[in-house]
Amino acid sequence: VARNPGEIEFHQAVREVLDSLGPVIAKHPEYTDSAVLRRLCEPERQIIFRVPWVDDAGTVRINRGFRVEFNSALGPYKGGLRFHPSVYLGIVKFLGFEQIFKNALTGMPIGGGKGGSDFDPKGRSDGEIMRFCQALMTELYRHVGEYTDVPAGDIGVGGREIGYLFGQYKRITNRYESGVLTGKGLAWGGSQVRTEATGYGTVFFVEEILKTRRESFEGKQVVVSGSGNVATYAIEKVQQLGGVVVACSDSAGYVVDEKGIDLDLLKEIKAVRRDRLDTYPGECRSAARYVPGRPVWEVPCDIALPCATQNELDGAGAGMLIANGCTIVAEGANMPCTPEAVRLFTEAGVVFAPGKAANAGGVATSALEMQQNASRDTWTFEHTEHRLAEIMHSIHDRCLATADEYGVPGNYLAGANIAGFTHVADAMLALGVI
Ligand code: NDP
Repeated sequence: VARNPGEIEFHQAVREVLDSLGPVIAKHPEYTDSAVLRRLCEPERQIIFRVPWVDDAGTVRINRGFRVEFNSALGPYKGGLRFHPSVYLGIVKFLGFEQIFKNALTGMPIGGGKGGSDFDPKGRSDGEIMRFCQALMTELYRHVGEYTDVPAGDIGVGGREIGYLFGQYKRITNRYESGVLTGKGLAWGGSQVRTEATGYGTVFFVEEILKTRRESFEGKQVVVSGSGNVATYAIEKVQQLGGVVVACSDSAGYVVDEKGIDLDLLKEIKAVRRDRLDTYPGECRSAARYVPGRPVWEVPCDIALPCATQNELDGAGAGMLIANGCTIVAEGANMPCTPEAVRLFTEAGVVFAPGKAANAGGVATSALEMQQNASRDTWTFEHTEHRLAEIMHSIHDRCLATADEYGVPGNYLAGANIAGFTHVADAMLALGVI
């Protein structure tokens, strides 16, 4: 804490991992002897830079850009870029730290990193978004590359932004280096299923949890927070598997639609028009309501999927879910549940699937995109989705097997933290003190 003052989200993420590692450290003194934990908590490299750009009115704007290259023991740094006014070093470091263990859990050869900017894309024209992305890449290109560091999207960064970033990288370097970014469009090096992967993967993970109880999504009531990329495709997959998503949200409130969210309308409002969720009730055929300023967790459900942002589900939200009989919470977002919420779920016997396991499908499919780029190949949607489902199945089983091995059966949080940690720690031991 003294070494990284004020970085509260980073402290929270580190504490959550360290809290799980007691049994591992007791069993493996070699991790302590070689200071693996202390090395893991210190990024290999952090880059902070000025991003100057000109808005539509001709005013010069200055934002701050970040790339934290956290750990490359398993492969090139890999992790998204976030554009949101709340971005500062503490958020980028928490995301980069989580990414190390998540990427290890996928079993793919990718290290951990994260980046972004305090740029607020809301209300910006397409031209402003393009000029901002070009300005950011004008510095970032020095630090990224197929074998070095491979960014992708995150909050505020989707296919459009990745296109502008990739265009500028190609222009500056004069190289068509497809493997430098993931989340690309299908016509220019992207992979099928990458857009859907994080949301779909979270739902595949929950499907595995349900299978352990001989249940399925059929007829289950589900609440999803957020209405961006992860939320949208989580809703799509739940519906395909027979569940009913009764509510979703944005940062201003939530929509409740007892008949089930109209996904075509949601995509039209959020992804095509880039509009606000409060326009939904006026345009849908059912009796949907928009409830401003309230947490979506007050809507009764069997399964909750927080898919918006960090610390969005606190103790009060957890209390509402538990009181209404929710039995599974799976994190589609990164660290959306506060430590208090996680404690309450554990005490109440609610199954809790942490983001580093449940939302790993996005980065896993990014690694599949890198594989396709490296072999100059393209796979079908069916094949890629099948690979994603297999990966989520295997992460699920690995979390459970590890939790069993370390004496905490059924604890997905401990299983994910320990399995991710041992995988990357063993690689770090093998590579020596670097
Ligand atoms: P998007 O930008 O597509 O959507 C973000 C959603 O979350 C929007 O509905 C937004 O509402 C809401 N939101 C953002 N910030 C806040 C806030 N401070 N308070 C309340 N709501 C907020 O992002 P993604 O869907 O890509 O990402 C969502 C989460 O999933 C993040 O935690 C991200 O790190 C994580 N994730 C994403 C992956 C990916 O592949 N995209 C991979 C793995 C994890 P509004 O429009 O009102 O701001």
